[in-house]
Amino acid sequence: PQRVFSGMQPTNGLHLGNYLGALQKWVRLQDQYDCIYCVVDLHAITVDPDPATLVSRCREVAAAYIAAGVDPKRSIIFVQSAVREHTELTWIFNCVARMGWMQRMTQFKDKAGKHEERMSVGLFDYPVLMAADILVYKATHVPVGEDQKQHLELSRDIAQKFNNDFNAPGFFPLPEPLIQGPGARIMSLRDGTKKMSKSDPSDMTRINMTDAADAIMSKIKKATTDSLPVPASVEELKGRAEVENLVGIFAATTERTKEDVLNEFGGKGFGEFKPALAEVLAAKLSPIAAEMRRLNADPAALDAILKDGAEKARAIAQPIMAEVRDVVGFWRA
Ligand code: ATP
Ligand code: MG
Repeated sequence: PQRVFSGMQPTNGLHLGNYLGALQKWVRLQDQYDCIYCVVDLHAITVDPDPATLVSRCREVAAAYIAAGVDPKRSIIFVQSAVREHTELTWIFNCVARMGWMQRMTQFKDKAGKHEERMSVGLFDYPVLMAADILVYKATHVPVGEDQKQHLELSRDIAQKFNNDFNAPGFFPLPEPLIQGPGARIMSLRDGTKKMSKSDPSDMTRINMTDAADAIMSKIKKATTDSLPVPASVEELKGRAEVENLVGIFAATTERTKEDVLNEFGGKGFGEFKPALAEVLAAKLSPIAAEMRRLNADPAALDAILKDGAEKARAIAQPIMAEVRDVVGFWRA
């Protein structure tokens, strides 16, 4: 069976990169695959854990999934820490992954900056937990943004080495990334070399899924560009990272190609392009935000969905984990 797994951290509110890079694609994948969409709270405690807000943030992320179109009747929506098998498999994978592989992970270096020695071991180990998240369901396809490409390659390496080391050919599938389209890499509105991120201290760098139309307008108007007009062809976007980003956002939001967007706006100024972009963004996001508010007003209903999802997730993960224990050779009664 072809199975999709993906997740988002309940850290800050979700942003346009999360939506265009992942969530928007998750919705469509429900037609083709059995989908498991997780709120990854174990990942969220790797940096600045906040016990007082963690549960409500988890509900908010689940509400965003549903508001965007993930159907809890067709797909499994659950909170990671409710299924203990993720952490159990992580330990085993810690003994499979090599230090050299981990030391090459660029996201850890980006997040740690100059303070590696002060970061949690959990942040360093995050990609191993991610491999366990996927493989504890033997998921075959993983829709994520481009920032997760390296982590997904690590998941494949771990799956392959596990299968080899424990003489269990084909036991874990090698999960395929689903990373495509103009939404796969949304950059900061202020700096075309940095990805749009929840953890960026400045709110002006991102569009939040819950931003009102006027906030979207002012952030887009203030977004960094240059003084040239919008180019007429994709080739001319080279070397204009911020402009390329805005064109990519327009294309991904309207589900058109960049070429198509440039055919419409090539030669026009940003005074015309930016308001048009802000409008398509608001048209896309405001109904989702309204639905998120409606869902968040009823936490008991969200909890019921998450409880049901956790039960369904456990029903898949527990038998796989039992097989893993046998493959590794652990004692059992
Ligand atoms: P953080 O900065 O805390 O890591 P984040 O914005 O990267 O937050 P995650 O929860 O780590 O959010 O990622 C959720 C999903 O969103 C992943 O599939 C990731 O690849 C995708 N994603 C995150 N940022 C972007 C982006 N700028 N462009 C496209 N996809 C993105
Ligand atoms: Mg991230």
